[in-house]
Amino acid sequence: MASSYRLDQLRNRSAPLDMSPEEFRQLGHQVVNRIAELLESLPGRPVTPADTPGTIRQALRASRGLPEHGVEAGPLLEETTRLLFDHSLFNGHPRFLGYITSAPAPIGMLGDLIAAAVNPNVGAWPIAPMATEIEAQTVRWIAELIGYPVDAGGLLVSGGNLANIVCFLAARSSKASWKLQAKGLAANPAGPLRVYASTEVHTWINKAMDISGLGTESLRWVRVDDDSRMDLASLKIQIDKDISAGDVPFLVVGTASTVSTGAIDPLAEIAALCRERDLWFHVDGAYGALAAAVPEAAELLEGMSEADSVAVDPHKWLYAPLEAGCALVRDPEALRGAFSHGAPYYHFGEVATNYFEYGLQNSRGFRALKVWLALQQVGRSGYVQMIRDDIHLARALYDLVADYPEIEPLSQNLSITTFRYVPQDLLDRSETEPVRAYLNELNRELLARIESSGEIYLSNAIIHERFALRICVVNFRTSLTDIESFPEVVTRLGRSTDEELRSQAELSLPPRAEEG
Ligand SMILES: *Cc1c(COP(=O)(O)O)cnc(C)c1O
Repeated sequence: MASSYRLDQLRNRSAPLDMSPEEFRQLGHQVVNRIAELLESLPGRPVTPADTPGTIRQALRASRGLPEHGVEAGPLLEETTRLLFDHSLFNGHPRFLGYITSAPAPIGMLGDLIAAAVNPNVGAWPIAPMATEIEAQTVRWIAELIGYPVDAGGLLVSGGNLANIVCFLAARSSKASWKLQAKGLAANPAGPLRVYASTEVHTWINKAMDISGLGTESLRWVRVDDDSRMDLASLKIQIDKDISAGDVPFLVVGTASTVSTGAIDPLAEIAALCRERDLWFHVDGAYGALAAAVPEAAELLEGMSEADSVAVDPHKWLYAPLEAGCALVRDPEALRGAFSHGAPYYHFGEVATNYFEYGLQNSRGFRALKVWLALQQVGRSGYVQMIRDDIHLARALYDLVADYPEIEPLSQNLSITTFRYVPQDLLDRSETEPVRAYLNELNRELLARIESSGEIYLSNAIIHERFALRICVVNFRTSLTDIESFPEVVTRLGRSTDEELRSQAELSLPPRAEEG
């Protein structure tokens, strides 16, 4: 170190990153005011500015180098809110119904601020005593809300992918007949381990098969019925076939519900089969599991409570700001079996939870706080009301499109509704070539135009090889008026897109009816 360094100056240290409490108070108020203004202005803003990457990079001045010297925090925060508020897609917008991404609960925004201020490392009890217990309570409340045993093990993770993968790894080590953790997969004394999931399962399964060392080819894809639900007979046949070949089935993944159409696998039947064959039954309920909170939807999810593990996403139907997923495992020891390499931890003579022994992370943020706050702000009844309203709004759109002859309804499950635009003169030929292919191209292009319009926002699904438009309502700001605007926008933009596509010379399409 340079000899001119003056250690004695550090007696009254002034670090560039520190802020006086007074400055923090003032800047904090300024930021909160900007956020409140954003919330106020949301309905009047476009859902997305639909900027090109180039425009965004220009606004950001993306190519400038790292600043050598700092700037004042006030103007910096001001500039930052402007940059983000002017150039973001808002999933908190009442007309955002894309993917499965919820509007963020305002109390969750504040919760994240408090969490960052205390900054507990929720990997180990001694360094996060209250935060650890709040997380444990949050996990119990989530289990209670969906009708899963409250004494289950569990923890919060980054999202559905990780929640599913954590459960998958718990299943693998729990069902392995040898010392898997110590000896590895190569020590498997029997045939290859087999996993079963429907062809509609989310892509996390590929990552799980890969990182678990089983390999993606060890997965058995089970066919689905016309409603995209796992076909139970096919599942049984495949399991029997594998057993006679000397393979070792150990895990069946049921999905509740699928990302495309919201279909729910026959959970009760799969649960019974797994019990009979001594297989681990995992439910991917990242989105749909929370519908079990609503009494009239709960029966659709019957059997989920019998699962050995369930993945559920607070950042979907609990409206927590990203990120928050939750892994629930019936037997807490199965989590320790997969992730702990030590004995239970005691703190002042009592057993205490060190979350680093229950999952993949070591240092862990305080994700639970935003979820815990929201659960208390509205209680069970508040969530039942919001989830129920979301489902009814999605159904309302399904019913509404019946009044629009150019919109063909395709599916409706929970709060996911799919449909597509079909020009009137093609209605009676929609399943014949080349009309079939054209409708897919038309709806793909229509989706792009709807997105860039900023008026409404939706996504897509492929249903029996048809390109469908898809809404998923996990948005407590969406009203019936917002829903009613969807078919109008789809019809208007559908017509103009159709007109333009058909006027393109290279397109070999049947002429418009009125043209002959
Ligand atoms: C959303 C979803 C996932 C992925 O969850 P992330 O939070 O995006 O990681 C997995 N499975 C299902 C059924 C989902 O709905």
